[in-house]
Amino acid sequence: MFLHRSIAEINLENLKKNITNIYNYAKKEIIAVIKADAYGHGAVNIGRFLDKIDFVKYLAVATAEEGKELREANIKKPIIVLGGILKEEIDIFNNFNLVPVISNFYQLEQVKSLKNRNIHLKFDTGMHRLGFYKEDIEKINKLIFDNCINIEGVMSHFPSADIDKEFTENQIKIFQEIINQLKAKNLKYIHIQNSAGIIYNCDFCNLIRIGLAMYGEKPIKDYPVELNQVMQVKAKIISIKDIKKGEGISYCHTFKADKDMKIAVISFGYADGLPRALSNKGEVIINNNKAKIIGNITMDMSIIDITDIDAVIGDEAIIIGSAGNQKITFTDIANLTNTIPYEIMCGISKRVYREIITE
Ligand SMILES: *Cc1c(COP(=O)(O)O)cnc(C)c1O
Repeated sequence: MFLHRSIAEINLENLKKNITNIYNYAKKEIIAVIKADAYGHGAVNIGRFLDKIDFVKYLAVATAEEGKELREANIKKPIIVLGGILKEEIDIFNNFNLVPVISNFYQLEQVKSLKNRNIHLKFDTGMHRLGFYKEDIEKINKLIFDNCINIEGVMSHFPSADIDKEFTENQIKIFQEIINQLKAKNLKYIHIQNSAGIIYNCDFCNLIRIGLAMYGEKPIKDYPVELNQVMQVKAKIISIKDIKKGEGISYCHTFKADKDMKIAVISFGYADGLPRALSNKGEVIINNNKAKIIGNITMDMSIIDITDIDAVIGDEAIIIGSAGNQKITFTDIANLTNTIPYEIMCGISKRVYREIITE
């Protein structure tokens, strides 16, 4: 039994299995996306582990600060910064050897101040967030030639690979035209596919950028790759009591007992990352049984119906994970709370102790 009141077990063997399965399916080397503290898994621990895997070519983070954290932990792989570069961040890029993803002319201007003028260039093929347009190519070709900028990679991004095949395939076509027109002498890497995107054919691409699937969550229902949960989230039962028919539970009494009940309080609330919207909707697993969350989830605790379950104080409730025949995924929680698994995953808060499992 674990010491902490709540833990997120991070299973690195499962991470290894997932990323290997993805590599074997896509047959392309990988940019491992570990932004947002590796989607809540702990960027330093995940980064150190990935640092030793040959077919991981790059680590990707969102910001320079995130890249700095990895370098300070002595992580050696090349790191690309997806969010690009701001003027005031030039020193961080230089001091920590980070590669910016350049997606506008302001950023291209900053590259002149980098010791090492290596970049990945990003094009907007339909996401409409970051990226140059195809129409910018002529100007880019001139600027990179004049300023001796080395384009090591070119990328684009899918907004709807999970839901819109036609749109996504058209993006690949536009991306191919861009690659054909771009005059980049030492171009080594071309990448557009994210976790959901690997189901599409992109023969001229030679890297894939993987986040969600590596952490064991399927981006689409019929995902062609076998995945294992990397994070299991557990919390302890800290109180058990009986309540009588007709009594209300938790703030605002949104749940009223329709019979005499036994309830457990677990040490996990919305401050730990359990969405309050899951109140009276979600379940946890206690001693191999699913048990309902009743009443409003509170900041530090949630209340569980254990009327039909044998449990004692100190037993664990599984919030994300599996036991016996029961399983709860990030996607299950996202579906119940009208969001996406990404948001639940990176929302598991700092208070939840990360325990690394290597088997
Ligand atoms: C976050 C991110 C990814 C990873 O996406 P997943 O769906 O988690 O695989 C890839 N590319 C870019 C640009 C991203 O921001």
